[in-house]
Amino acid sequence: MVAKILNHSIFKNVVNFKAGLILLLTVTLSYGQSVKDNTNVVTVLMAKALIDVQNGKTVVNPVLYIRNGKIEKIGTGLPIPDGAKIINLSDKYILPGLIDAHTHLCHEYYGELERVSGANIIIETVKLTEGDRALLGAKYAREMLMSGYTSVRDLGNSGMNSAVALRDAINKGWIIGPRLFVTTRALSPIGGQFSKMTPEVQNVIISKEYIEINSIDDARKAVRQAIYDGADCIKIIVNNGRLVLSEEELTAIVDEAKRAGLKVAAHATNGDGPSLLAIKAGVSSIEHGYTLSSEVLQLMAEKNIYLVPTDAQGVERYQKRIQRAVAAKVKIAFGSDLYYYNASITRGQMAASSYGTYKEAGMTNLQILQSATMHPGDLLAGEGKIGLLLNGYFADIIAVEENPLDNIRTLEKVVFVMKEGEIIK
Ligand SMILES: [Zn+2]
Repeated sequence: MVAKILNHSIFKNVVNFKAGLILLLTVTLSYGQSVKDNTNVVTVLMAKALIDVQNGKTVVNPVLYIRNGKIEKIGTGLPIPDGAKIINLSDKYILPGLIDAHTHLCHEYYGELERVSGANIIIETVKLTEGDRALLGAKYAREMLMSGYTSVRDLGNSGMNSAVALRDAINKGWIIGPRLFVTTRALSPIGGQFSKMTPEVQNVIISKEYIEINSIDDARKAVRQAIYDGADCIKIIVNNGRLVLSEEELTAIVDEAKRAGLKVAAHATNGDGPSLLAIKAGVSSIEHGYTLSSEVLQLMAEKNIYLVPTDAQGVERYQKRIQRAVAAKVKIAFGSDLYYYNASITRGQMAASSYGTYKEAGMTNLQILQSATMHPGDLLAGEGKIGLLLNGYFADIIAVEENPLDNIRTLEKVVFVMKEGEIIK
């Protein structure tokens, strides 16, 4: 790998201070970035068909040139250059890697503990160290990637900064996992998402998971702290029961985040009120928004604010809200929001089975595919990087046995995974 070769070179050049300095500088600059094979060999990937998720078309016999982790060229009948590495998926359908816009990889609840209200979050916060949380995240990150999730946005409940450590470990090649976009502790009203606790323990426990906002100064400081801690985006809890962040606090959060180029994801559950406050403040996505009205959804469409539904199966009022969102042309970005321990299924398999909730709400297979790839791609990384198979995009590619435009459940059985040009599965 690149870093190793550079280290050897440093030893060889130890007497040559100047050369050593340049090499050291190279090592420093690459620290924290992906450890990639930088050889200039082109990889040629061929498949039975490519799913154009933007236009809903099936392109037969596609040929993709992949170089340095990116898609260099796509076409049909392209020649195979001399010395190219060939990947032949001639009986498979390829599409962009799946993207999950709402995960909690360093977070795990147990169904049994639900018998005591609030027990799960207290036990997790008290029992697990930051190291435990990051390693738990390593397990779930791997599971997500193996199911075809090449990018994931992790939205907190990860202790102090465990998701940052997880992201960096993946980027450095220590472990495998999706490309992560992470928040640090969520900004919230007093109490975070903890239910009532004794006064003596509140300060100790809550601050491990949330930054409580009680003024505009708190709001600005919390965003700056998150940026310093390594956040890629900011998560806010607009309300915890009747405690709601004020309009001024929300505006300060978004203003401070935008100044540093970070987007804000707003947790808002039932009703229009909390979501509307967040929308007015200029957040980039509403997480959950279970029962949003058509008026609010139209406002979101106008302001290009994404809806990240994280719905349980079979709930009619959630399904009706999906229908209203589709009618209002709100961009829907898929979010699994799954964090209960389950011995019989991986986190990635669980996430992929969640597309069924969109299907039962009446979304077409193409709309589901767009919510699973291009929409979260733009939300997480900005346009032109992930979520589509186009020239210049990262070579995040998965393959399935059937055409997902005909059978969306084929996404539950991803047979090939490439992340940034590297074959994972
Ligand atoms: Zn969540």
